[in-house]
Amino acid sequence: MTPRLPHEKKTVSFSREAVNVFFHILTRCNLRCAHCYINPDQHGADTLPLETICRWLEAFSPATRKANLIFLGGEPTLHPDLALAAAHARKIGYDSVTIDTNGYLFNDILDKTTPDTIDYISFSLDGATPETNDAIRGKGSYEACLAGIQKANARGFATSLIYTVSTANLHELAAMPDLAGRLGISRMFIQVLGIRGKSAGDKAAQDMGQVSREQWRENVPAAAMAGADHGIIVTYPKVFLGEDEVFECAGRVADNYFIFPNGRVYRCPLCEDFPLHSLAFENNRLVATPRVNEADLFELDIAEGCVMNRLVQPGNLSWRPDGRPKYRIACCMLKEEVRPGKPDRTSI
Ligand code: SF4
Ligand code: SF4
Repeated sequence: MTPRLPHEKKTVSFSREAVNVFFHILTRCNLRCAHCYINPDQHGADTLPLETICRWLEAFSPATRKANLIFLGGEPTLHPDLALAAAHARKIGYDSVTIDTNGYLFNDILDKTTPDTIDYISFSLDGATPETNDAIRGKGSYEACLAGIQKANARGFATSLIYTVSTANLHELAAMPDLAGRLGISRMFIQVLGIRGKSAGDKAAQDMGQVSREQWRENVPAAAMAGADHGIIVTYPKVFLGEDEVFECAGRVADNYFIFPNGRVYRCPLCEDFPLHSLAFENNRLVATPRVNEADLFELDIAEGCVMNRLVQPGNLSWRPDGRPKYRIACCMLKEEVRPGKPDRTSI
C-alpha cells in the first residue's frame, strides 16, 4: 500500500444549498434481509410507473438548484424502467444520480445506462465473509454482490459500498477496508443498524442489536481511517455528540426528502414507520399534510438530542443518577467523512 499524507476528517454540516432526494421507486425485493427497514403497510407495495417517477422528480426543481438523487427500493434494479428514470433525472438537471442495490443488478441495468448518467452504483454488503453477510442478507447474496461490483467496475461505473454495523457483523468491520480496496470501491458508507420496518418484530433482527457507544467509538473511526489508507472516502454517522458539539435536526435545517411509492414523503428517516410524513404527492403535486406530523417533532428541544431517537430507539441512550442523559444523540443524518490524504511521494 502506498504511504499517504494525513487523511482529512470532518463533520459534514447540513446545508440548504442542495436538495437530496431519496426515491423508493418500488418496495419489492428479491432478498429478505434481517434488518430490512421497508414496511409495505406504511410505504405501499406498488411499482411506480415511469410517468409518475418523472413527474415526482420534477417536483424538486432540479434545474434551479443543486440536486442529488438516490434511487432506492426494495431493489431498484427490479424496476424495468430504472435506466429511463435515471436518464430523465439527468435531463431535467439532477447533479448526481446514485443507484443503491443489493448487487443482483436485474433487468440488465448495466447494459441500459452508462457511467455518464450514474455517478455511483452503491452495493450493500454486511460482512467480509459469506458466512456473516449471508446470515443477515440471505444465502448467496455475498457472491452475487461481489460479482455485481466486479461487473460494474469492469463497465467503468464508480462503485461504493454500504455496511450496516450491528452486533452480528461488528467483528468483520475491520476486514472491510481491505476487501473494499481489493474490489476497487471508491466510497464506503458505514451505517448504524435501525430496527425498523417489517424486521422490527422479527426475532432474527432483534438478535442483531445496535452496537454500544464504546463499541462504535472503538471500531468505526478506525475502520474509516483504514478505508482511507486504501484511497477510499469513508462516511459514517456521528451518532454520539461530544459535550461541546451543537445539536441540529436536519428536519429544520436541511433539504432531504424520502419518497415512497404510496406517495408519502418524509423529511426524517426515523419517522418512516409511522404516518408522520409532512408531505405527500397528490395528483403528482407535492403538498403539505395536516398536522400533527414529523415537522411538529422537529421543533422540540430535549436534553437527549434527537427526539425521534428518544422515541423509537432509546436503548442507545443512558442517564446519570439525577436523570440527565450522559450524552446526546445526533441527528441520524449528521455524518463524519474521512478523505484519504494524497500519496506521500517523499517516502517512496
Ligand atoms: S434491506 Fe434492501 S436488499 Fe435487503 S430485503 Fe430490504 S430492500 Fe431488499
Ligand atoms: S433523526 Fe432526529 S434530529 Fe434528525 S431529522 Fe429526524 S428527528 Fe430530526
